[in-house]
Amino acid sequence: MNILVIGGGGREHALVWKLKQSRRVEKIWCAPGNGGIAADAECVAIDAGDVAGLVAFGEKGRPDLTVVGPELPLVDGIGDAFRERGWAIVGPSKLAARLEGSKIFSKEFLQRHNIPTAKMCGSFDSAKDAYSALRNVGFPVVIKADGLCAGKGVLLAQDFAEARDFIERAMEKEELGAGGRRILLEERLEGDELSFIIVTDGKSYAPLVPTRDHKRVFDGNQGANTGGMGAYSADALLPEELRKTIISTIVEPTLAGLAAQGLPYQGFLYIGLMLTPSGPKVLEFNCRLGDPETQAIVARMDFDLAEVLEDVAGSNLIASKLHWKPGASACVVLSSGGYPGKFETGKPVDGLASAEQISGVKVLHAGTKRVGDEIVTSGGRVLGVTAVGPTLGMALASAYAAAERICFDRMHYRKDIGLQGNCLKASRN
Ligand code: AMP
Repeated sequence: MNILVIGGGGREHALVWKLKQSRRVEKIWCAPGNGGIAADAECVAIDAGDVAGLVAFGEKGRPDLTVVGPELPLVDGIGDAFRERGWAIVGPSKLAARLEGSKIFSKEFLQRHNIPTAKMCGSFDSAKDAYSALRNVGFPVVIKADGLCAGKGVLLAQDFAEARDFIERAMEKEELGAGGRRILLEERLEGDELSFIIVTDGKSYAPLVPTRDHKRVFDGNQGANTGGMGAYSADALLPEELRKTIISTIVEPTLAGLAAQGLPYQGFLYIGLMLTPSGPKVLEFNCRLGDPETQAIVARMDFDLAEVLEDVAGSNLIASKLHWKPGASACVVLSSGGYPGKFETGKPVDGLASAEQISGVKVLHAGTKRVGDEIVTSGGRVLGVTAVGPTLGMALASAYAAAERICFDRMHYRKDIGLQGNCLKASRN
């Protein structure tokens, strides 16, 4: 098989790394890829959001299978563009990708199919109406921009002034771009968050191993929100009873609802959950894998990813093919100092080979590029140091030992990945 992977971050490096291990795979292209992916695949200089450019590449390269990492090309219809041409692709249609591309669509979908979620207090396309609605809600309230906003579209507003300011910036000043022109208000949920990700061909589905990520930049969940500073996976995250509840109250009604609306879903579906005292509730859907959760998930895969994804694209998924390494995995993100605010790039990265000598460790690249013989930083999140181990404690120890061997100017990473989350206490010994 010749495979095209779309994207250029740590998630895509993880996918490329695993796909390359398959005996069925002859060649992998990655558009656009990065400095680390370049060692495992042929990088093609096409932006992941450039659907027309990717179709043009498909005409020439004729990949046997395409795997889409980020949401933007899916929301813009790459799934349809490839399938119309008879090219196998893993990723939902443009209409189904609205589960991520429009929070209002997704909330209405959840309500229509009685799937547990935070109560919506209204959706608005005029700032004036949104301000007046604020007078009738209790605080804190959650405000969500409808469209894609690169992780900046959600605010947990503590009071009226904060809420008004966010709505003004989103709807009047258009600081979030087109994604902020409509907003919704919803009740705030409390509890632990959990990511539940499935892969489905529209009929069958298979859950991936449970993961949790860390969004804030500093230890103790302090500082600004980021794309994700680390993630971990351990079976203990998801007790069997909870797993059954999630499947019966959320996963199956979601797939049935999509099919009933004529939107059969094919690809990865990421379900962000809040584990509330009254049961798990959906916070959000993503129409693709998470980053850095993918790095932790891929590290535990004990099956041929190329074969399974080919089955997904061919509507032939056999869930029992997905075997997982027991134990746990962890991914610690090494970021540029200053991220998610301003940061410098072009810093040489040292210690990569030495880090990978630690057993069970793989260093996955996110924001790097190759300059001559050197790897230099090129983004906010630079590397995802990923490790597996028989227990979460051991996976974390390996990932942190490897992280200590890597160095670039102003490198920053959290020291408490995997240490939070009460479900984990038992599994860390
Ligand atoms: P979303 O993009 O909808 O997942 O929101 C991003 C983050 O905002 C989530 O991971 C939660 O931490 C938080 N969040 C979203 N919706 C709610 C809610 N209704 N209650 C509490 N926190 C929320």
